[in-house]
Amino acid sequence: MESSTVDNVRNFLMQERDERREFLERVGDQIHQEPTQDTEWVRVTTLGCCREVGRASFILSTPETRILIDCGDKPGAEGEVPYLQLPEANPIADLDAVVLTHAHLDHSALLPLLFKYGYDGPVYTTQATRDLMGLLQLDYLDVAAKEGRTPPYESEMVREELKHTITVDYGNVTDIAPDIKLTFHNAGHILGSAVAHFHVGDGFHNVVFSGDVHYTDTRLFNGASNDFPRVESLIMESTYGRRNDYQTDQEDSERKLTELINDTYKQNGKVVIPAFAVGRSQELMLVLEEAMRENRLPTIPIYLDGMIREATAIHTAYPEFLRDGLRQRILHEDENPFLAEQFQQVDGGQEMREDIAGGEPCIILSTSGMVTGGPIMSWLELLGSDPKNTLIFVGYQAQGTLGRRIQSGRREIPFNDRGSRSEQLTLRFDVESVSGFSGHADRNGLENFVRTMNPRPERVLCVHGDESSTDQLSSGLYQEFNIRTHAPKNMETFRFD
Ligand SMILES: [Zn+2]
Ligand SMILES: [Zn+2]
Repeated sequence: MESSTVDNVRNFLMQERDERREFLERVGDQIHQEPTQDTEWVRVTTLGCCREVGRASFILSTPETRILIDCGDKPGAEGEVPYLQLPEANPIADLDAVVLTHAHLDHSALLPLLFKYGYDGPVYTTQATRDLMGLLQLDYLDVAAKEGRTPPYESEMVREELKHTITVDYGNVTDIAPDIKLTFHNAGHILGSAVAHFHVGDGFHNVVFSGDVHYTDTRLFNGASNDFPRVESLIMESTYGRRNDYQTDQEDSERKLTELINDTYKQNGKVVIPAFAVGRSQELMLVLEEAMRENRLPTIPIYLDGMIREATAIHTAYPEFLRDGLRQRILHEDENPFLAEQFQQVDGGQEMREDIAGGEPCIILSTSGMVTGGPIMSWLELLGSDPKNTLIFVGYQAQGTLGRRIQSGRREIPFNDRGSRSEQLTLRFDVESVSGFSGHADRNGLENFVRTMNPRPERVLCVHGDESSTDQLSSGLYQEFNIRTHAPKNMETFRFD
């Protein structure tokens, strides 16, 4: 399996070695100064992803430091970007540090924009996230160009960002400002994903940003870690925070998925699954590979369309981030499940898609995961009108995305025919949803994340969820644990002291 992106990133960093050395020395000098003021307060300002999913971005500030955490886009609403114009975020050039929890575009897409605005400081993230974010951001530019949109920055800014990235391993306490220490913990959500713990002042306050979390183990990762020596304030994702947001367990979900695929196969149809390039695709590859090996599914081709293969290669390059059993299998090439021969990359463009659509039964995993663009649009066009085929949603579909509209029953969808006039496409294939493969904790998992924290936080801000999700999680956590909870709006500032 090729790992060109990993090599590209490494080669690039090698070329820039001298500049990187100067940059690291400068950062080191700034961080290791004595704090000039007493830490009397900590503030968190919400720049996005409050009462919505998308454009995750926050400012964490003290009297002398300002840190930006995440800077994402909003799937299905390209114009809605984080509120970087707020005074708390400005001047952007003077931010002390940027911290990225994970590579998904709703957290990372607009990070390179900061360098266009004059930011020249460090980006702290894990090594796997560094490689994945580079891959996804370049794909983001590529997809925008293909769809005739003007992206807000050029690929040069992605290179600037990589040059300024400092990688941090889980569990390593790192000074990122004279008065702030950062520690990453496994978030169980995607490769390299982290819960970010900030120790502010001389033990004055501790703030945790959950990022996106999965609380229990999955095939790919151990469940999220919530073992922090101290936490007063927790900023917590709420994607599945509603009272009835329970996912079926993995075994039931896998049974339902294989049933749907078998039924479609028997009627000579094809299965198409929209999936993020990073996360659900690899989880599904493991599920499908095992089901075929154990004859619960016929061995048919599984086509990967979009950046899935490259993202999978990065998983193989960082086995230390994966669960024990899987890590062992990957280290033995002949047992590496990602290399099973039924996985085939769609690298022949539209012509190859047409051949596949006209051919034998198969399974197609294609980006984008929320049907907001990318090759999945071609698959809807090629397969959507045939009732023998099946579309299966396995991941979260955010409000405002085409994926959410189809999932809620819409069958007439606007279709942009080669950029000319808009046409309607009528979907006649089966549309199904299987829960339990999500990279997000369900309501139970979110509650357990807080319940098993020791000590528990004094205050929780519920973010990264629809309004009903953040509201219901907020009131649920309050009732259950008798701690202060909020469901903030965008552009609010909370002061902790
Ligand atoms: Zn995510
Ligand atoms: Zn997210």
